[in-house]
Amino acid sequence: CGIVGYVGPRQSQAILLAGLARLEYRGYDSAGIAVIDADGDLGMRKRAGKLGILRDDLTSAPLADGTTGIGHTRWATHGGPTDDNAHPHLADDDKLAVIHNGIIENFSELKEELLAEGYAFRSQTDTEVAAVLLGREYRATGGDLVVAFRNVVSRLEGAFTLLAMHEEQPGLVVGARRNSPLVIGLGEGENFLGSDVAAFVEHTRNALAIGQDQIVAITPEGVSVTDFAGNPVEVEPFEVTWDA
Ligand code: GLU
Repeated sequence: CGIVGYVGPRQSQAILLAGLARLEYRGYDSAGIAVIDADGDLGMRKRAGKLGILRDDLTSAPLADGTTGIGHTRWATHGGPTDDNAHPHLADDDKLAVIHNGIIENFSELKEELLAEGYAFRSQTDTEVAAVLLGREYRATGGDLVVAFRNVVSRLEGAFTLLAMHEEQPGLVVGARRNSPLVIGLGEGENFLGSDVAAFVEHTRNALAIGQDQIVAITPEGVSVTDFAGNPVEVEPFEVTWDA
């Protein structure tokens, strides 16, 4: 339902939680974040219920902070609103984290394929299928998150905004959209992704609109946008002049 991503020099947890708070108006039933810490380990925390439950949980049992992170508020469509069904979903030995808005319509065929290959699932969501598939493709590409991500989104049907990061490639968040919103926020030495500009507007009002069926990779230094085949595409810069 709500999506935020961050790469840059700052510790990301507070940025992610503030972004999610600004997206609360959309409604949600669960919330979670994943962060790649200074040691290059991916940590994740997710809870059913209001953002305050996640925040309290992080206060009583802190997660190591880090400068690459993603956050999600979930509006359940596949699987009830439980901790396990909340996003992020992890794969590739918990080194990879994925968040998703929308519905992956062909998730059951993909799940059958992955189950037959021996992959296990921890949730009832359509999203975890994309996460596990991405983990498989990441290994198949020899550890190239952008190429693996491209292979995965090309196989998904339905409506999705998908974000992913892998602990072996800190400082990189990849995203894609099909019939579901995703915008880039351009900072100084830092960049953002959001399901709408509210996710990052307190940090930057310089934004880039991503078209349908496009993939974006953000690092602290820059952004690149391609179509699902990997061809570079032009993106439209705009300034957020309204109160978001
Ligand atoms: N279909 C996904 C789920 O049920 C994502 C829902 C959303 O857009 O928040 O987990």
